Amino acid sequence: MNRVRAAAPQLAGLVPYDPKYLPAEAYLSANENPRDVDAEVRAVIAKRIAEVPLNRYPDPLANRLRDMIAEANGLDRASVLVGNGGDELLFDLALAWGGPGRSFLNLPPTFSVYEANARLTNTRCVNVPRREDFSIDEEAVLARVAAGDIDFVIVTSPNNPTGLRAPVAFIEQLLAATDALVLVDEAYFEFSRETVRPLLEANENLVILRTFSKAFSLAGVRLGYILANPAVIEEFLKVRQPYSVDALSQVVGEVVFEMRARFEPGIREIIEERARVAEALRTLPGVTVYPSDSNWILLSLEGADEAWQYLYDKGVLVRDFSRAPMLEGCLRATIGTPEQNDAFVGTLRAFIIERNGMRAQAARLEEGR
Ligand code: PMP
Repeated sequence: MNRVRAAAPQLAGLVPYDPKYLPAEAYLSANENPRDVDAEVRAVIAKRIAEVPLNRYPDPLANRLRDMIAEANGLDRASVLVGNGGDELLFDLALAWGGPGRSFLNLPPTFSVYEANARLTNTRCVNVPRREDFSIDEEAVLARVAAGDIDFVIVTSPNNPTGLRAPVAFIEQLLAATDALVLVDEAYFEFSRETVRPLLEANENLVILRTFSKAFSLAGVRLGYILANPAVIEEFLKVRQPYSVDALSQVVGEVVFEMRARFEPGIREIIEERARVAEALRTLPGVTVYPSDSNWILLSLEGADEAWQYLYDKGVLVRDFSRAPMLEGCLRATIGTPEQNDAFVGTLRAFIIERNGMRAQAARLEEGR
């Protein structure tokens, strides 16, 4: 029998990222856009893809797409880098600014990939937990960076999975208070309509992360990008995979970016539906609804794990955070189409009515004894 040595020690205890994707009628678990790209965009994509040489390596830097993104953001090509989803760029960040003897400041509860990347790269993860209402403990963050040992910080705005954006004034203060690299993860900024892009020129230590996966309906394609000062982009270039963005993805990204105005009505619908769903959820007894600037709503209730199962059995898949640290009792529901949202709210209401009905019955039985 063959033997195999143990894998690298930093892998011990690490659990592979599992988005918990299960078959369901309404996928409300991964913060995707409920609407696929429309038929006209798809037709242009098909035409352009048919012309892509498949025997050649892609442009390693996706320069056409890079130029389009740069122009839209009032920047030069040297300030933009495209990656295989935002995920790749987050990993590149840990490779370039982390490592043994280096420290990452994390603001949990937040996107779990940040901490996993720190562990994989043997980077120390320093946590400054959010307050009870999930707002950033700004004083604690500023005090922690003042110690001078933090190499990079990630501030997620809006924060996944809690929902609110980070105050721009705080990010400005943070950038001024430290020379640590500060990545502001704007994966969902199209739903909050707020960006720290105006802070880029004055702050050499700012990186902004964006993605095509959410507002632009391309989670299946894997495209993300960063905006940063050229000196920072240069460091990312040293660690990235040379051909991480394949030729087909580049073309799809170019078409979608060119036609991005068409996604605006869908974004507006998600924002409107978010308000409608939040209002409906607030009428449910025992449910706490957290305010959201994004394309999901975080809620908490007693028996959240049972509610998750009940929803799933009825075809509605939401994300179960009920056992996650600092998120006990929480579920996260992506804003879907109006029909999917109605199915989610209606099914959760049915769960609560059934459960409360059973409790009342049990209480009557107890009284009658
Ligand atoms: N940042 C945050 C906060 C996210 O939630 C996600 C997706 N789950 C990403 C980055 C990465 O997205 P992608 O790799 O699809 O671009």
